[in-house]
Amino acid sequence: MQVSVLGAGTMGHGIAQVAAMAGHEVTMRDIEAAYVDDGLDAIESNLRGGVDRDKVTPDEMAATLDRLSGTTSLEAAVTDADLVVEAVPEDMELKRETVAEVESLVDDDAVIASNTSSLSVTQILSALERPERGLGLHFFNPVHIMGLVEVVVAEQTSESTLAFATEFVEGIDKTAVEVGDSPGFASSRLGVALGVEAMRMVQEGVASPADVDTAMELGYNHPMGPLELGDAVGLDVRLDILEYLREELGERFRPPQILKRKVRAGKLGKKTGEGFYVWEDGEIVGAPEDVMDR
Ligand code: NAD
Repeated sequence: MQVSVLGAGTMGHGIAQVAAMAGHEVTMRDIEAAYVDDGLDAIESNLRGGVDRDKVTPDEMAATLDRLSGTTSLEAAVTDADLVVEAVPEDMELKRETVAEVESLVDDDAVIASNTSSLSVTQILSALERPERGLGLHFFNPVHIMGLVEVVVAEQTSESTLAFATEFVEGIDKTAVEVGDSPGFASSRLGVALGVEAMRMVQEGVASPADVDTAMELGYNHPMGPLELGDAVGLDVRLDILEYLREELGERFRPPQILKRKVRAGKLGKKTGEGFYVWEDGEIVGAPEDVMDR
């Protein structure tokens, strides 16, 4: 199958990699040659890591790279594609323009998928003349490691589009879950619900961040507790998602004061060195000493 991936960033290069590893011919497109090269370099480095850990053979690595090409031309990227996956930045207008332009270049039976993590897939697809050919394919970061893809069924998605996309996901060795086009899909909505309750518990003095996280890690076998995860993702990103889910789904997603306060103070988690934990060189080194939280 010919797969076209739009965007060579964090998600785009990961999607291109797993599709090429599964035997598809893949073209990855970005707007500047430097971004395309960065994406191709990142794929090569991931594959080399796989070879070092005996997860990928040198022959598989070479064959995967052979099936991959990069371009800045949208036309060259999508013209012969059976499946186009857009992984351009999270902006409704950009995504609508992108899919509409793709539709003017592809065959009638090409499927167009969006990797949006929070926007309405139905609204993105309404920019198409034949929106039944579209759906969401929500991959997780890092794509070559994470086993899940949410297959997001929009209002317009046809049965044949859904069947085609599900078969594609299974063929690249991922597990597909089918979800309706509802804010936060299945994964973000539940993950954020857990995270927001954990923050409220810290705010109410029920337990420290470390104890809340340990409870979920050891009591429920979560690989990482909800507060450490929030710090890793970025508390500003968490706040944005909560505000969006509150608007769409109601007050149960109202952001707690403790989160707003940390974001206002620039304490965004791992990337700024402090959030619910103190971080150094990407590792947790202790607990913050917030006067407000004593
Ligand atoms: P990113 O910023 O790392 O990459 C986006 C890339 O798209 C950039 O390289 C940019 O130059 C390029 N781009 C911009 N306009 C373009 C165009 N018209 N055509 C082709 N490329 C274009 O972003 P990302 O983290 O890879 O996110 C991409 C999408 O995936 C977003 O919708 C995001 O919400 C979603 N997503 C992200 C994650 C994550 O953890 N990062 C997880 C799931 C889904």
